[in-house]
Amino acid sequence: MGPLTLPIIMSLAFCMVQGSPQLRRANDRQGQCTYTFTVPSPREGSCTEPGEAMTAVRELQRENAARSQEMDALKIRLSLLEKVVNRFLGEEGAGQSTSSPLIWTDAQRELEKLRREKDEWEGQRGSLEMAYSDLLKEKSTLEEEKQRLSERIEKVQQAHCPQVPEASRSRDQQISQRQASRWGADAVGYQELKSELTALPASRMIPEGHSAHQSSENMGTAGNCGELSWIGEPNIYRKADNIAGKYGVWMRDPEPASPFTQDTIWRINTVGADIRQVFEYENLDQLVQGYPAKVYVVPRSMESNGAVVYKGSLYYVRRKSRILVKYDFKTETIAIQKELPDAGYHGQFPYAWGGYTDIDLAVDEMGLWVIYSTEKAKGSIVISQLDLKTLEVKQSWDTTIRKQSVANAFMACGTLYTVGSYSSPSTTVNFAYDTHTGVQKQLNIPFQNRYGYNSMVDYNPTEKKIYGWDNYNMVAYDVRFSKM
Ligand code: CA
Repeated sequence: MGPLTLPIIMSLAFCMVQGSPQLRRANDRQGQCTYTFTVPSPREGSCTEPGEAMTAVRELQRENAARSQEMDALKIRLSLLEKVVNRFLGEEGAGQSTSSPLIWTDAQRELEKLRREKDEWEGQRGSLEMAYSDLLKEKSTLEEEKQRLSERIEKVQQAHCPQVPEASRSRDQQISQRQASRWGADAVGYQELKSELTALPASRMIPEGHSAHQSSENMGTAGNCGELSWIGEPNIYRKADNIAGKYGVWMRDPEPASPFTQDTIWRINTVGADIRQVFEYENLDQLVQGYPAKVYVVPRSMESNGAVVYKGSLYYVRRKSRILVKYDFKTETIAIQKELPDAGYHGQFPYAWGGYTDIDLAVDEMGLWVIYSTEKAKGSIVISQLDLKTLEVKQSWDTTIRKQSVANAFMACGTLYTVGSYSSPSTTVNFAYDTHTGVQKQLNIPFQNRYGYNSMVDYNPTEKKIYGWDNYNMVAYDVRFSKM
């Protein structure tokens, strides 16, 4: 309703009020008195006056003229606006378009949104490309390492084992390949530079009549708690979630230091070039559920899975070195670093499965030990007892057990025990070397690698259990000793 419409309606209403009802009295033909009450109809009553009607018409005409002027003004403004818009579009280079201003604004907004999305996407693509480039570099470094180590292994085999029959060699290669493809382990192949002599009994490496040589005096009888006589079936506690956990090490500290307890579990996934994370679980439940209480990041990356936790500290081998590290969990700092004299490292004398397991730490009733080999020992296992405070070698023993011929080794009650195979479902603990007597002997204690790739075997003297890491699976075995 326009601004002039209201007065017109008001004036029409006024006209209706003017036509009011009338009462008349008169005598009819019979002389009777009659009353007539007349009410004008709306049509009759409205604007009967010609002057009033003309006024309304004029007002309508005025309103019409005013609207026409407004319309003309609007047309001029619209035309100006279109010119501005067209100029803008021309400057934008989109030029030919004659879209309305509204569509143009929407298009502009959409364009800005697209530009922002493009910038974000390009940022993300940049990060991805950097990560990809880093991965490529790491892959190429690992491939170089693998090549170097393969050459070295070949040289060592040519020098020491020319008698290996070709048939035996190819069979072992087939076994290795089957293992790798079965577990999708191609991605971690660089860690699996295992000896091709795995299936060859270790005893063949020991010349007949060769007696164990002890390089230092005996330790006395402390901790000589008997000889290992039985190992139970593996109990599985947890399976690692991804490839980083194909190999690893897990354990309880046999003599925990406050604030840690007998329940505390330690775990390290050891696949990768920069192994620095140590997971602490308050108890077995946390391990099973997969929620660590804390994750430590050690300042120097570690080599393989020879680490142990003992009296509140982590003892490990520094990557690509013979340096032993003592890391204190309470202060989260490295307490000591010490070179292990003459020790072969980074693929020189690993266990049969490879994985840079040259230097393997161990704990038993008598303390901290290290199992390794040297050039002088020509690949045979050397055992050294270490001083906890200085990491210096207190005493060493030379065995004649070829390190690359056994799958793993552990210390229990001052005696070294070796495991025959890392992959065979039913293998044996096949050798023992008693540091109390310097006597080495063959054993035949059944041992199960239920999951086909046992990369870690360690003894816990408090629990009298063997901990293992068998192809992603964290397992433990009960053990029994025969009293001497
Ligand atoms: Ca071990």
